[in-house]
Amino acid sequence: MRAWEANIRRVVPYVPGEQPKGENLIKLNTNENPYPPAPEAAQALREMDYDQLRKYPDPAATELTACLADYYGVGRDQVFVGVGSDDVLAMAFLTFFHSQKPILFPDISYSFYKVWAELFGILYETPALDADFAICPEDYYRENGGIVFPNPNAPTGLLMPLEQVENILCHNPDVIVLVDEAYIDFGGRSALELLDRYENLLIVQTFSKARSMAGMRIGFAIGSPLLIRALNDVKYSYNSYTMNLPSLVLGAEAVRNERYFRETLKKITDTRERAKKRFRELGFSFPDSMANFLFVTHEHVPARLIYEALRAKQIYVRYFNQKRLRNYLRITIGTDEEMEALFAFLKEYLAS
Ligand code: PMP
Repeated sequence: MRAWEANIRRVVPYVPGEQPKGENLIKLNTNENPYPPAPEAAQALREMDYDQLRKYPDPAATELTACLADYYGVGRDQVFVGVGSDDVLAMAFLTFFHSQKPILFPDISYSFYKVWAELFGILYETPALDADFAICPEDYYRENGGIVFPNPNAPTGLLMPLEQVENILCHNPDVIVLVDEAYIDFGGRSALELLDRYENLLIVQTFSKARSMAGMRIGFAIGSPLLIRALNDVKYSYNSYTMNLPSLVLGAEAVRNERYFRETLKKITDTRERAKKRFRELGFSFPDSMANFLFVTHEHVPARLIYEALRAKQIYVRYFNQKRLRNYLRITIGTDEEMEALFAFLKEYLAS
């Protein structure tokens, strides 16, 4: 080994879901929205002044931040935006998890948490989900260096009732509690209403799921002005221009279009509820998801075989070869047509 190799930082990276190329495939593996972004955003893209790209974008993302603040009824000093919620979460880990005590997050949840903790040298412990895949709030009533969990959780889709989120906050006045609400719009009650009472609460959301904009990479955090200021200080110590101009313009336009947002959400949640019934009829069971995906297991057929059979038919779902998850598939809710194609295949496959 050459001497300089010893100085290279070695990390085990997060593995994002596959982005297969080609026509006529059904992509239900990365929890994207099956519907396009708001039509008004397309208009804004067409009207964008190309010459503006010569210049650096607004480092403070003033317009997008203001749109979000107005939409959620908080101060402009309570919103932080970043390049997808991954960027926002990474910044939050770097900013707020800076004690000698381990942070806590569930053993089964968004697998990026562990990667950031390792990258930034943050100690962590991972309390186990219960037998039904639920987070046990009591596991978080102990000394720690910070807390993070998704609500609804991924890949289970299970929603923690807001009372339990508040119980975790009540027991943790001395650390930052990060609630990752990537999927909250699909039927959950956001912790936003707790903000007034807990200055140590940071809520992170994304445009990638409910707002159909995974390709724009926009995420945001809402919290007390003190937390947002701390996040901004770290961001400006790292990269001032995180948000590109098209994201700033289209993101603001998407937030202004409440009606389209609500219509799309309703379509997806209606499809999800119908899908639950269909999966049950086919012999699947699953935690009762409040997200835009279902985490299903079949009574007889191993998940891996179903995953491979679907893949051969160009239907992509997510399979995790990990303890407790091995016999499950995470399936994103697509359009009604995509779900029909999925069920038609499953019906035939399971009968044979
Ligand atoms: N949190 C959770 C729980 C997620 O599942 C995802 C999607 N991979 C993210 C955050 C990050 O999403 P994005 O960076 O696209 O906002």
